[in-house]
Amino acid sequence: MPIVHDKKLLQLIKVIPPVTVIAFAMLSMFVVLNHNKTLHAGDMLSLKKSFIASEKEMIKTQVNQVIQQITFEKNNTEAILKSNIKNYIYQAHNIATNIYNNNKGKTEQEVTALITDALRNIRFNNGRGYFFIYKTDGLSVMHPVLPQMEGTSKINFQDRRGNYIVRDLGQLAKDNGEAFYHWWFVKPNNKQQEFEKIGFGKHFAPYDWFIGTGEYVVDVENDIKKRLIERISNIKYGQNGFIFLLDYQGNIISHVRKNFQGTNLNNNSDNNVVEVGNRIIDVAKQGGGYLDYLSPIMPSTGQPAEKVSFIQSFSQWEWIIGTGFYKQEADKYLAEREKIVAQQNKSQFLNLLGLSSIVTLFFVALSLLLTKYLSNRFSHYETQINSDFEELNKVKLQLQYQALHDTLTKLPNRVLLDDNILQGIKLSKESNKRLAVMFVDLDDFKKINDLHGHSVGDKLLEALGKGFTKILNGYDSVARFGGDEFIFCFPMISDLHQAQEKIEMIQQIFNQEFIIQGKSIFSSCSIGVAMYPDDAVNAEDLISKADIVLYKSKSLQKGRSLFFNDAINKQVQRDFLIESELRMAIAENELSVFYQPQICVETGALKGVEALARWNNKALGAVSPDEFIHLAEEIGIISEIGDFVITTALNDIHAFNRVHKQALQLSLNISPKQLMAANFAVNILNTITQSGFSPDLVMLEITENVLISDLTKVTPVLNQIRDYGIQLSLDDFGTGYSSLSYLGNLPINEIKVDRSFINKLLVNKQSESLVKTIIAIGQFYDLAIVAEGVETKEQYERLALYNCDLIQGYYFDRPLPLTKLIEKYQTS
Ligand code: C2E
Ligand code: CA
Ligand code: CA
Repeated sequence: MPIVHDKKLLQLIKVIPPVTVIAFAMLSMFVVLNHNKTLHAGDMLSLKKSFIASEKEMIKTQVNQVIQQITFEKNNTEAILKSNIKNYIYQAHNIATNIYNNNKGKTEQEVTALITDALRNIRFNNGRGYFFIYKTDGLSVMHPVLPQMEGTSKINFQDRRGNYIVRDLGQLAKDNGEAFYHWWFVKPNNKQQEFEKIGFGKHFAPYDWFIGTGEYVVDVENDIKKRLIERISNIKYGQNGFIFLLDYQGNIISHVRKNFQGTNLNNNSDNNVVEVGNRIIDVAKQGGGYLDYLSPIMPSTGQPAEKVSFIQSFSQWEWIIGTGFYKQEADKYLAEREKIVAQQNKSQFLNLLGLSSIVTLFFVALSLLLTKYLSNRFSHYETQINSDFEELNKVKLQLQYQALHDTLTKLPNRVLLDDNILQGIKLSKESNKRLAVMFVDLDDFKKINDLHGHSVGDKLLEALGKGFTKILNGYDSVARFGGDEFIFCFPMISDLHQAQEKIEMIQQIFNQEFIIQGKSIFSSCSIGVAMYPDDAVNAEDLISKADIVLYKSKSLQKGRSLFFNDAINKQVQRDFLIESELRMAIAENELSVFYQPQICVETGALKGVEALARWNNKALGAVSPDEFIHLAEEIGIISEIGDFVITTALNDIHAFNRVHKQALQLSLNISPKQLMAANFAVNILNTITQSGFSPDLVMLEITENVLISDLTKVTPVLNQIRDYGIQLSLDDFGTGYSSLSYLGNLPINEIKVDRSFINKLLVNKQSESLVKTIIAIGQFYDLAIVAEGVETKEQYERLALYNCDLIQGYYFDRPLPLTKLIEKYQTS
């Protein structure tokens, strides 16, 4: 496991989360601040715009208010004037009435003197105003300005526009009690020009007077102007706000700079003042509006400054009213605002910083805790995984070992064997040497197992395995191939002689006695050898060829060793071919049955026939039963072949007997496996009965060997057969090791002396005495004796001499097909 990488990973796990949290916090702070900044810049810009807009609106409002005031005052001039003079006349009338009432006893003349004395010197409206008294008929009673006119009638006095001033006012006052009157009149200090005048008269009934006064409209207007100028010049707003007032001619009527007031701007020594002033006048004359210009002076600083003013004219008086604000003020205001906003931002930022610091700290702490927890878990898992891994590795090695080794002997198994052979071939090839694969198979291992039990068998294999390993050198190896089979691999073999030495070493192991569980065990083996590169060049072929020779060696004789050669190979190939062809022989209709006559020695007549299987294969030709019966047993099809022979023979011979009115006995060869098949006895009885054959004419031949292998199992079957009335013959008698003593206990009817003894009958004394003995014992037990393989007249005569019952052999007949049998024996 790459521990270094894991450590790095662990470090990363520890560092990444807090760093991420911090980075994220910083990033979001940056984003928020940046956002605020742009927002702020935008705010400032729009603030400036709106500030200027509101300033402009404000100055416009200021100017409009002043204009409104002027208009109002101007429009009220007459009303003010009228109420003003009316008031004074009422006072005068009151005074006159009081005097008159207080002097009732006095004459008109006396009272008049009192009244005129009281009123003559009263002045008002800046000394311009005075009272006059006329009789309604036009007589002047009192005129403080023209006293010489007193006592004269002014009834016909007209102004320059033809108005009868005294007459009309007198008449109106007399008619209405009081009245206003308009006329035009020169001014005391200006006799050239007439000015509009408004007068008011009130009727004083006791003497049919009217007391009156008059006022010049222009004077009142001037008063109003003065008052307005006074008021306007006092208007101040903000730090630098004031109203300036000038007329169309450039006379500065009101200005914050008092020294400007009363001067004409065109006379100013400052050209800028002249220029700006005329621009203001131009704007005003063209209907008014805003004007940007450089103001010669800003009140708060005393310095010239950029200014925006709103200008409007009051054309009736040819007045120009204006006011403005300084751009500098806007900047100042904005700077202050900015300062405040910056302050706010700063505190906001600090808040944000504080908050995000707390959050960041929290998450950093959390992530540190988590990563610590994780890393603990991680290392816990790591140790666990490591130990698991070790365990796993152990198991893996164990499994690997198991996969490549045999559990019982601890020797390599066939998988490892293949590899060993492969390596061995490489090695041998490089050194130009040979390699021997030796297939070792224990002889009769099954017997050892059956006799002593499997545990003893296992122990033997183990002991052998140990023994085998001891003889190994250098690159040699041995494997258990399965069951009781072992394969040696000897690389670097120089010649066959050296290989033979190895064989002897193996065989020497079997020369010793093995003591297992207190039992003394001897074993032997057969060995098949294949050589690289002579016989094959790869492991598979070497093993297979060693197997082939082993197989052959075993079938020839146990306990031998055999080197692979071509003849053997061919033989084995043929065996394989036979095997595969045999499976289809019945279906292909390749099997047939021949019958070999059995001749009665006493009468010379045909007593019976032995049915012998024949197989003619298209590829193999005629195959001897000696070859294929054994194989059929091995591959498990003996019963099929047997059944075929049995049915065919029963039918053939039954038909023969019927046709030729004979009672030939039929001998059928039964192989041990066939015999031991389930329900053999019943089945064969049924078959015999079905064919119509009489059971006592059927002789079943079983080999002697079958008896030794399992007497206890065989005996009941034999008894059953005998009970069914079927005859039994002991075939190949003398080849087995059966003791003659038990012959009497078996339910047999016949003994067939093996061909080998008949063969040697005349040349071998031992064989002769054996045949004599067999015939004697058979007669003792009342068994029929058949001699098979009788080929010569001499043999026949000798057997006849010994009282053999039946003779079978080439001397009389070879096995014959049914047609030949009929041909030869139909008449006898
Ligand atoms: P076996 O039962 O001993 O049969 C006698 C064999 O001896 C036959 O060989 C026969 O042809 C041969 N023989 C007979 N007379 C002479 C002779 O004078 N000289 C020589 N050299 N041989 C002679 P075959 O037919 O080749 O049969 C061989 C063996 O095959 C038989 O030996 C028998 O064990 C077996 N066999 C044949 N047919 C069957 C069968 O249908 N079923 C079974 N189970 N085994 C059969
Ligand atoms: Ca036979
Ligand atoms: Ca025989």
